Amino acid sequence: KNHSLWKNVDEYFEAKLLPDDKILNQTLDNNQAAGLPQIDVAPLQGKLLYLLTKMKSARQVLEIGTLGGYSSIWFAKAVTQNGKVISLEANQSHAEVARQNIENAGFKQTVQVLVGNALDTLPTLENAGESFDVIFIDADKQNNPKYLEWALRLANEGALLIADNVVRNGEVIDQKSEDERIQGLREFVNMLENEERIESTAIQTVGSKDYDGFVIGIVK
Ligand code: SAM
Repeated sequence: KNHSLWKNVDEYFEAKLLPDDKILNQTLDNNQAAGLPQIDVAPLQGKLLYLLTKMKSARQVLEIGTLGGYSSIWFAKAVTQNGKVISLEANQSHAEVARQNIENAGFKQTVQVLVGNALDTLPTLENAGESFDVIFIDADKQNNPKYLEWALRLANEGALLIADNVVRNGEVIDQKSEDERIQGLREFVNMLENEERIESTAIQTVGSKDYDGFVIGIVK
């Protein structure tokens, strides 16, 4: 019952606040046709990522977890002129779908999809001297603690950090969970508790993607 209400409310605000964006809709259709799991951010959440990125006047965005490029395209729309989005994806076929969507959206020059385990591609970014104004963590949650360490190394001063799926239907408070993703999230939150370089908060969300949430923070 709640789910259909949340979905209807999402649809109400989508109709009012999201301009009918053919490219973004096409991206979701392509992802579904290619058999990708429907675990992209919800449209209203994509717009939130876009707005936050604009508020920062971000030039460089790092995304960990590309899937079909839906959130990457929202970031690409938001970066400053000559801005760049680097998105990391382990699954070759997800990356191929993403590259096609990104090209169709006209962002081939803006978004670079790097294929490989993010734990292997992140060091190459550091070696290349890359640094970022917005970092979005949205891949395998068991590795969130390592992604947080990398985020600290790659963040520009004042960078915005966003992590998705930090609530998972409330499972995050199950300290005995045997799900390694939940344990990864809990470890990630423990790190935030003790990390003086980050000021952060958590926001619970409901909607077409059920009950979940974001951590949002600023790296000093
Ligand atoms: N950010 C995307 C969006 O909103 O459109 C959704 C990303 S989806 C939740 C997570 C993605 O992370 C999947 O495509 C998965 O293949 C990828 N992934 C999982 N483990 C990874 C790893 N170790 N390195 C890089 N990507 C990984």
